[in-house]
Amino acid sequence: NKQVVLKHFVVGEPKETDMEFRVGKASLRIPEGVEGAILVKNLYLSCDPYMRGRMREYYESYIPPFQPGSVIEGFGVAKVVDSTNPKFSVGDYIVGLTGWEEYSVIIRTEQLRKIETLDVPLSYHVGLLGMPGFTAYVGFYEICAPKKGDYFFVSAASGAVGQLVGQLAKLHGCYVVGSAGSAKKVDLLKNKLGFDEAFNYKEEPDLTDALKRYFPKGIDIYFDNVGGAMLDAALMNMRVHGRVAICGMVSQHSISDPKGISNLYTLVMKRVRMQGFIQSDYLHLHPEFLETIVSFYKQGKIVYIEDMNVGLENGPAAFVGLFSGKNVGKQIVRVARE
Ligand code: NDP
Repeated sequence: NKQVVLKHFVVGEPKETDMEFRVGKASLRIPEGVEGAILVKNLYLSCDPYMRGRMREYYESYIPPFQPGSVIEGFGVAKVVDSTNPKFSVGDYIVGLTGWEEYSVIIRTEQLRKIETLDVPLSYHVGLLGMPGFTAYVGFYEICAPKKGDYFFVSAASGAVGQLVGQLAKLHGCYVVGSAGSAKKVDLLKNKLGFDEAFNYKEEPDLTDALKRYFPKGIDIYFDNVGGAMLDAALMNMRVHGRVAICGMVSQHSISDPKGISNLYTLVMKRVRMQGFIQSDYLHLHPEFLETIVSFYKQGKIVYIEDMNVGLENGPAAFVGLFSGKNVGKQIVRVARE
């Protein structure tokens, strides 16, 4: 059984030498007496950016790190060659987490899906129809709140997620621009995938200016795959009520000092929603607000703290004090008695 194992935890950009190809001596079989397992012949293995995270020693995530010396795990398409699991028969094709090896015994089969759509290439089940495709789908429809005519920008646009999300945006009637890291990718985006515009971010001296050029009226939706400087530039170009779907931050994966990683990466890891708002957009809630808070106050359910400065002449000091925290509670200036 040929295998690829992680040699050691990876620091910085991953290198081929961080992994090792080895030939295992024993051929794999389902251990005696283990029910519910399958033996698969792996056919297609998916390379996904999140796997870089699993090569890090400390990795606060929903999925544990790989261990040095162990076979790399990732999404794959495989054919069942032996089974003690009634849900999977010999000859079935499955998609799910498997090993980077010729054959794998899979005991945790709950995460596997039997492939029913067999009239497309099997490898698509770890791409267009697999985890990246699903990411594009839910990211676009559930997070972006797209509307026809929106100005839509996606980074890493020619990759697994980006290429689909851009096309979904196009089908939805958005104006779509993608960024990618080479002339060939830019050409693909414009001439094969139907993006309205695309640019090579590596050739742009200033990303904020570049986005201003492509979005003179600003961006309604930014689908972020890279984080870092591109996210900063996109934020500088957002329109009022814009949406940013933080899908991933591939530019942050190989930063070895955890303190150097953008704190915004937390948004992905912990599925945090961060949203700016301005109260005056919600004035329709004002009557409800007054009723609720007056009632809470009268019932003693809330307390209110005021800091009253007396005399108009003390106004400037009261105001300035806000910025050094002099006020305790709500700062008011009393000009006259009622
Ligand atoms: P891709 O197929 O897009 O491959 C990665 C691409 O990222 C590269 O081709 C490269 O394209 C670009 N890239 C690499 N390093 C950098 C860098 N330092 N700065 C800018 N761009 C870089 O990967 P996927 O489509 O599979 O994933 C895209 C993003 O989506 C990733 O961040 C991934 O982690 C995230 N993701 C999130 C999921 C979720 O559930 N939230 C699920 C799946 C993926 P280029 O030449 O254009 O630079």
